[in-house]
Amino acid sequence: MIDYSKVLNSRISAVPPSGIRKFFDLLEDMPDAISLGIGEPDFPTPWHIRDAGIYSLEKGFTKYSPNAGFSELRRQIARYLQRRFDLRYDPRNEILVTVGGSEGLDLALRCILEPGDEVIIPTPSFVCYGPLVSMSMGVPVYVETKAEDAFRLTAEQLKNAITPRTKALVLPYPCNPTGGIMEKADLEAIAQVLEGTEIMVISDEIYAELTYGGLHHVSIANIPGMRERTFVVNGFSKAFSMTGWRMGYLCAPKELIGSMIKLHQYGIMSAPTTSQYAAIEAMKNGDEDIEDMKKEYDGRRQFLLQGFRDIGLECFEPKGAFYMFPCIKSSGLDSDNFCEKFLLAEQVAVIPGSAFGPGGEGFVRCCYAASMQELATALERMEHFIKHR
Ligand code: PMP
Repeated sequence: MIDYSKVLNSRISAVPPSGIRKFFDLLEDMPDAISLGIGEPDFPTPWHIRDAGIYSLEKGFTKYSPNAGFSELRRQIARYLQRRFDLRYDPRNEILVTVGGSEGLDLALRCILEPGDEVIIPTPSFVCYGPLVSMSMGVPVYVETKAEDAFRLTAEQLKNAITPRTKALVLPYPCNPTGGIMEKADLEAIAQVLEGTEIMVISDEIYAELTYGGLHHVSIANIPGMRERTFVVNGFSKAFSMTGWRMGYLCAPKELIGSMIKLHQYGIMSAPTTSQYAAIEAMKNGDEDIEDMKKEYDGRRQFLLQGFRDIGLECFEPKGAFYMFPCIKSSGLDSDNFCEKFLLAEQVAVIPGSAFGPGGEGFVRCCYAASMQELATALERMEHFIKHR
């Protein structure tokens, strides 16, 4: 009889399961519940993008691609990044096509971390950063951002978190779950702290296309002195509604890409071929789709924000991504309890802020990538729950 606790890697065993999982397990037995839980677009992938994938299959393009991804896709990614965000990366050696932004984050961390290296992670933020750092033998150092700072990381907070062991900073903006963004002046202040250090930046820009109120995403790679230390992680899941295609990419100086390509080629080989053909189409002809979906999200964002405020919940106005992060402290419940009771009583799933790290307690995450009808019903039920609990 094998004692698996002795066989399994202790670092991986020590990572706790995601705080989101419990709610999806509960949801499985509630087919009629409304879910504002999953962070996933509710639109299908635009038809012309699906068609490009289908066409590639019809033509029999079913083999491996080069390790870094098809050169045509890398060229189109370079053009897209320049067109949309004024970022300039050489498609020959500064762009790597990955299996979602998730693989990009993992590769960036694994190619730099030595045991005991610290990685600063602003929270509340996406659930994967800390576990990925731990599983790469690093040490996550959480910095709690505040609603009164618009959930931005301040230069002061960063300065205070840096130690001689600091290897990297994760910049998770636009932010899941808060909807916070970092504007140019915020990034310049961060850059000032980093200048002269060898601290690397892993900039998760997966929601870069989803910013509202006339604000445009700025990448820290465009702040003077920052490009050389920055991994830009991005992908197709959110902007093009392509979560299931598992398509992402990483941009960085060629020395860094050269190291990550080893991890990618030996561990993954290459990103899925069919998905790469679809992604080429998204890069070439997808700008309008982005605008259409963004307009729709913005309408829902404003509707839900007003709705929460009307029922008496304090709510920070999110400027990016597709999440609302209302404060539920007035209910007297902690966020985990609030979500469980709300789901069981009203059949609406939202996610406890505590799942997203320090600073998340007292809030719940609501994903507004759902129909207006669902959002309206969810709001009515939230009001009922708060008033009659
Ligand atoms: N970063 C953030 C902030 C996310 O919210 C997600 C998905 N929820 C990802 C990265 C990973 O996305 P994917 O692997 O589908 O590109």
